[in-house]
Amino acid sequence: MRLLITGGAGFLGSHLVERFLSRGDHVTAMDDLSTGRISNIEPFFQNPRFIFVKHNVVNYIHVPGKLDAVLHFASPASPVDYARFPIPTLKVGALGTHKALGLAKDKKAVFMLASTSEIYGDPLVNPQPESYWGNVNPIGPRGVYDEAKRFAEAMTMAYHRAHKMPVRIVRIFNTYGPRMRRRDGRAVPNFICQALRGRPITVFGKGSQTRSLCYVSDLIEGILRLLDRGPQEPVNIGNPDEVTILELARLIRKLAGSKAPIVNKPLPTDDPKRRRPDIALARRTLGWKPQVPLEEGLRRTIEHFRSERPVL
Ligand code: UDP
Repeated sequence: MRLLITGGAGFLGSHLVERFLSRGDHVTAMDDLSTGRISNIEPFFQNPRFIFVKHNVVNYIHVPGKLDAVLHFASPASPVDYARFPIPTLKVGALGTHKALGLAKDKKAVFMLASTSEIYGDPLVNPQPESYWGNVNPIGPRGVYDEAKRFAEAMTMAYHRAHKMPVRIVRIFNTYGPRMRRRDGRAVPNFICQALRGRPITVFGKGSQTRSLCYVSDLIEGILRLLDRGPQEPVNIGNPDEVTILELARLIRKLAGSKAPIVNKPLPTDDPKRRRPDIALARRTLGWKPQVPLEEGLRRTIEHFRSERPVL
């Protein structure tokens, strides 16, 4: 296949690039490097089937030649990042999705949207099935991401209906693993870096809020299956193993062999209280379920951060 991956230098984008290159595909990665990093894709530059283009996909996208698939993964994805870049977050979800859809239509390519569990907002049902419409505050600080992704889903389905385009929408739940930025601001990299440095581990609120964490290789496998065989409707991909944030902090501290204290900080506005994917649709249609248990995935991620650790 010949693929374009927007956000190709980001955490998930770079793992996708790696998987597609390893199965023999041709990959163009596009990224404006606002939250993505060249170091994530450095090893692929020697591959003749890989091209990198620095470009913000809010603007017209030009890719010469044939394309079989466009995977739109460009967006800030950490709450800290979308609080820092609220307008670019809205623009890449809205204008960027429009441009990527237009390109896919022109090339007669399959279009895949990286959507998110955030479209469920602070959910009133747990676990969240794809049929749940969500509970989002449109004007809160997280609204810039949530509403951009909700708009992106609406736009994707409109192109599907109006232009009969083949589309995929993956609703990605919290994912972690190597290549997350140390200063990304999300719970897993924060807790690991704090634990390794013996600094206070910052649990927001009482830590009773839950998340369900998926190791990156499981997520990538789900995405590949979704791209290959449909369905043309949103599919949750995530690990239903739900933990509280306090449990997560304690587990990371233990696995890192750290004695860092756990401290409480104010809970950010609109922080979802519970989050857990219902993955019945992915199991049924893709034959997919996660394979890597939380402890194992965290061990691998801690090892990665340890090896990257700068000399203090
Ligand atoms: N969190 C925390 N300490 C941190 C970073 C995050 O307690 O240093 C909490 C955050 O408030 C949320 C959960 O961990 O309840 C997951 O946050 P993250 O930013 O990883 O992703 P989210 O699921 O909120 O998008």
